[in-house]
Amino acid sequence: MNLITNDAIEKLQATLRGEIILPDDPDYDEARSIWNAMIDKRPGVIARCSGTADVIQAVRIAKDQDLLLSIRSGGHNIAGNALCEGGLTIDLSGMNSVHIDPHARRAYVEPGATLGDFDHEAQAFGLATSLGINSTTGVAGLTLGGGFGWLTRKYGMTVDNLMSVEIVTADGQRLWANAEQNADLFWAVRGGGGNFGIVTLFDFKLHSVGPEVFSGLVVYPLNEAKSLLNKYRDYVKTIPDELCVWAILRKAPPLPFLPPEVHGTEVVIFAFMHAGDVEEGKRLVAPVQQFGKPVGEHAGINPFSAWQQGFDPLLTPGARNYWKSHNFDELSDEAIDTVIEYAGKLPSEQCEIFIALMGGEANRVAADETAYAHRDVNFVLNVHGRWAEADEDEKCISWSRDFFNAATPYAMGGVYVNFMTEEETDRIGSAYGPNYDRLVQIKRKYDPSNLFRTNQNIKPLD
Ligand SMILES: Cc1cc2nc3c(=O)[nH]c(=O)nc-3n(C[C@H](O)[C@H](O)[C@H](O)COP(=O)(O)OP(=O)(O)OC[C@H]3O[C@@H](n4cnc5c(N)ncnc54)[C@H](O)[C@@H]3O)c2cc1C
Repeated sequence: MNLITNDAIEKLQATLRGEIILPDDPDYDEARSIWNAMIDKRPGVIARCSGTADVIQAVRIAKDQDLLLSIRSGGHNIAGNALCEGGLTIDLSGMNSVHIDPHARRAYVEPGATLGDFDHEAQAFGLATSLGINSTTGVAGLTLGGGFGWLTRKYGMTVDNLMSVEIVTADGQRLWANAEQNADLFWAVRGGGGNFGIVTLFDFKLHSVGPEVFSGLVVYPLNEAKSLLNKYRDYVKTIPDELCVWAILRKAPPLPFLPPEVHGTEVVIFAFMHAGDVEEGKRLVAPVQQFGKPVGEHAGINPFSAWQQGFDPLLTPGARNYWKSHNFDELSDEAIDTVIEYAGKLPSEQCEIFIALMGGEANRVAADETAYAHRDVNFVLNVHGRWAEADEDEKCISWSRDFFNAATPYAMGGVYVNFMTEEETDRIGSAYGPNYDRLVQIKRKYDPSNLFRTNQNIKPLD
């Protein structure tokens, strides 16, 4: 793979409608900044594409010159795969239109759209699809890895709602992929990440959601965690698909509904959303409010799109982040004890342990129906190492790794590809699971020279 050449830059300048940003340009540093401030890569050129034609041109130039290439959409990928060192970054962030067809219940979404862009357009018609929990995340990267959030138990993974894609493959061809056309490619992009081409349009099916939902947070002190998490694991076995409840262990942020003396203390937060009748939601959530003696609570009827932004203030760009993740089928006593032990030694105000509830519709799909294979997972545990200053790197990374290692014996072995850090190449097989061999075959067909390699890479020669 080659680094950028003057010839490639001239060709990009001559052929693209969008902007070309070079290292000497005043907006270069802004253009190369992504969500995780730990990432400090310097692409040789950033090509801000304006449409599919630009993407085709950029891919052809990269292919002809065997250039190191990366793809940036929402820029949220924790591993920093949106950028490459010295190569060509194809930046799709400006291609962010979302078109809703309310009668057909379909959304046509360009890759630079964020979840917030999507919800804004779809909720104008009381519609939504299964996406993530932070409105600034990119639809593109989230979808290509699988995608889950508050609606996953009711409507499946994001990929289960994907109907078609327009994709530019490594030979610079633009294809449609869906159940009828290029079905192998369509299967592969539903969980195989950015390995097979650049998606320039996503077509999703939509569902009636909200526009108001019963949602909120119930906050307890960490010293009740053992009893709380025992109750949580029993409770979630009884709830319907409409309801999703996640557990978060962290230091209490200064949320207005929490008494000042609770701020900065270790807490267990249950975050919930009911995608159905609000009165039914209140009834179903009542047990969570009685797991123990809450130190604060903020539960109510909220616009769905506002709830989708509820975690944004805790997940702003600019902080340093190091994540590790495990899949669990059950929360064993040992797993709960390990979670509580490490929640008791959080190294920063912002570090947290997220336990996302899966199951429901996401688990009614066969493991080989889409490239996303983890259809037996009931909880995704994410260790969010997150802090402000570089001099805290060592202690926060060590905490994340130590917790991850301590929890490993109780986990399933698989991992959600979108939560992997750059250094975890040894977990590629675990990320793609039983679908890995088929993904290698499809990679060989569509990208035999591994042009699309700045990702959790499926090598064509394995
Ligand atoms: C704060 C935060 C909250 C999150 N919450 C959730 C959540 O609730 N649920 C969830 O499932 N995930 C969640 N994630 C993980 C998220 O799914 C991944 O970070 C994902 O990669 C983000 O996509 P992006 O487009 O923003 O990222 P980018 O960094 O722009 O892209 C990531 C990678 O995806 C590939 N890619 C991107 N666009 C394209 C394209 N158009 N064509 C082909 N390949 C492409 C490329 O390999 C690229 O390097 C969260 C991440 C963050 C940082």
